[in-house]
Amino acid sequence: MSFLREQSGPKTAELVRSPGDFGLGQVPTAPAATTDLVCGYCSTGCSLKVHLDADGQAYNLTPTPDYPVNLGMACPKGWEALNPLCANDRATSPLVRDQTTGELVPTSWDEALTTFRDRTQSIRAEHGSDALAFLSTGQICTEEMAFLGMLAKSGLGFAHGDGNTRQCMATSVVAYKQSFGFDAPPYTYADFEESDCIVLIGSNLCIAHPIMWQRVLRNSHQPEIIVIDPRRTETAAAATQHLAILPKSDLALLYGLARLLLDRGAIDLEFIKAHTEHFDEFSAFLDDYSIDKTTAETGIPEKELERLADSIASGKRVSFWWTMGVNQGHQATRTAQAIINLALMTGNIGRPGTGANSITGQCNAMGSRLFSNTSGLLGGRDFANAEHRGEVARVTGVPEDSIPTENCLAYDQIIQGIDEGRIKALWIIATNTAHSWTGGRRLQRVLDKLDLLVVQDMYGTTSTAAQADLVLPAAGWGEKDGTFINSERRIGLVKKVSRAPGQALADFHIFRAIADTCGLGDMFRKWQSPEDVFRLLAELSEHRPCDFSGIDGYLDLERERGIQWPAPKGERTNSKMTNTKSTSQPKPFDHLSFRDLAFSPQRRLFADGKFFTPNGRAKFLFETPIAPPELADANFPFLLLTGRGSSAQWHTGTRTEKSEVLKKLHPSRIYCEIHPDDAERLGIQPGGTLSVASRRGELFAQAKITSTVKAGEVFIPMHFGELNQLTLPVVDPHSRQPSYKHCAVRIAASKS
Ligand code: SF4
Repeated sequence: MSFLREQSGPKTAELVRSPGDFGLGQVPTAPAATTDLVCGYCSTGCSLKVHLDADGQAYNLTPTPDYPVNLGMACPKGWEALNPLCANDRATSPLVRDQTTGELVPTSWDEALTTFRDRTQSIRAEHGSDALAFLSTGQICTEEMAFLGMLAKSGLGFAHGDGNTRQCMATSVVAYKQSFGFDAPPYTYADFEESDCIVLIGSNLCIAHPIMWQRVLRNSHQPEIIVIDPRRTETAAAATQHLAILPKSDLALLYGLARLLLDRGAIDLEFIKAHTEHFDEFSAFLDDYSIDKTTAETGIPEKELERLADSIASGKRVSFWWTMGVNQGHQATRTAQAIINLALMTGNIGRPGTGANSITGQCNAMGSRLFSNTSGLLGGRDFANAEHRGEVARVTGVPEDSIPTENCLAYDQIIQGIDEGRIKALWIIATNTAHSWTGGRRLQRVLDKLDLLVVQDMYGTTSTAAQADLVLPAAGWGEKDGTFINSERRIGLVKKVSRAPGQALADFHIFRAIADTCGLGDMFRKWQSPEDVFRLLAELSEHRPCDFSGIDGYLDLERERGIQWPAPKGERTNSKMTNTKSTSQPKPFDHLSFRDLAFSPQRRLFADGKFFTPNGRAKFLFETPIAPPELADANFPFLLLTGRGSSAQWHTGTRTEKSEVLKKLHPSRIYCEIHPDDAERLGIQPGGTLSVASRRGELFAQAKITSTVKAGEVFIPMHFGELNQLTLPVVDPHSRQPSYKHCAVRIAASKS
């Protein structure tokens, strides 16, 4: 088939490689070459130097020493990034469910594509576009997710599409859009090294973003490091201050802190007047947040609150960082905006070492936020805006009248639509919904209601693929070309350094093949290769806040070691370290040879105090805190907290569980952290089994008795499939992001 021959890279997909054909056990004596590509796990976006054999195939890697993100460092996942490619359970051919036996059986690409076309078209003919939905991901390349979003919505007539970014970053997106006028995390990683006060809220940076934590450790300003988290996490243990708040009292704490700063006069009135709006209303709102009330609602003693406020008030460069502890809450958007308010009122934005900084999760969640074509039109545009639709049509060649004119359903609404029988077909790409979605066993039951479930993934063995009618085998990171955008807005290259096994294809080529099979080749004539699409997206970004029209293709990204947006045409700088001039300390990259770069290696937003709102002012946004929807009571007396387990684990473990090295770095069995007093009272022994039950389900876990959790609270890592049998299916009303971090459970010692 033609699309097989269209694959770029060292070899074509026609040269079939069995899983395990190469690996770390077959190391040539010296690499024939090396090449740099961005890691495919987390949003830090480290560069890995992949070692290639004489056949151009990857056999080992080391972290890239002169990349401005990781400076020669990598976490265990990065070091082990090649191993999941060699797993024995890679999907090597399309699979279709046999109607007689009910088994998934191998089929040809021709049959698979025809099945996809015929079944989606017949569902559309019978039930309309509203019956078709897709779930995208922050794990594939920007070019691929843009292609998917346009193909599905404008070509195939899928009315609805969302992505797993909804589960991690939707809150930050909405918070920034409302406050700044665009989804624009303002920072650069050098800010970790430039701050004299670093406030981490709901972020266990040590293990969730270990290389960012290494950047904190390189800070020569002896910074105050403040962690706000109910648990004494690894990061909290290393901090200078830990505020162990009551779960989901963060919004009350942030308002109480704002009031304390206001009372101290620790605000930047000049900045507030020149660059913001609604501060007077916010200031009046804070009247109600006395220190007594804050102490009562958060469990933090007055003395600790005063010390926190003093540290921020005396800091010259204060940076505020948050991640899932904030984003995954019932009032998450207002909580993120309460952090933004603190940065605005103290003038800690746009300068080195400052900022209201959301740390992203997945390797390309930032690409997804701008270009997945799900909750917004390409480039941070609006589906409902005719001018925006016209711009997209002109650049992409996709007819304007095929672009939807309204927003579609969000992830939770798609699941609801399936449950109610309105959505009949679902196409899931590179995400393990059956494990990661919240709300107990309902999800598996809901997926069973579909007339057609298509799963496109590297592995045919995920819990979601097990329910599929059709499995499309996809190439993984390292087996295809494209770009990712990291947390600090840096666009970095991903390359094909290994042949995908069997008939697995790059997601890009699967989308291309579907377009051709469905008669959409002409509509997508400009979308022939990942780099074609990169250039389309660069053109589409022109004059948008995320403008990267100044990047001249993949070679430019390679030469520049990644480039942060904005990078508009005509703004090549000869590598000045912009916005970092005021530091008296050595500059973070003085030891590296970045002086020949055309773009500065580190840049931040809002140095001029101009935001992306129509009047250029940032907004103070706030709302009265409300109690979490499920409180502890007599029947369910504990609060369950969730989060990452270790730096060796990634989300649902689909890839990290393929590495024998990574598996040795974390417990293999699901465990539950419980305070010693609670364990003693309930007769729970260290290493014993306990049952954890919520109103939605029950699981059995190994007891880990530790005072890192408070009495009355327990913690289970997110990587184990059973966990979401317990979590509460509640979403933040603004971002529709699920609240994974808080639900009521009961605990008992178990003999099972
Ligand atoms: Fe990869 Fe993230 Fe680890 Fe860096 S910190 S090596 S990007 S997983």
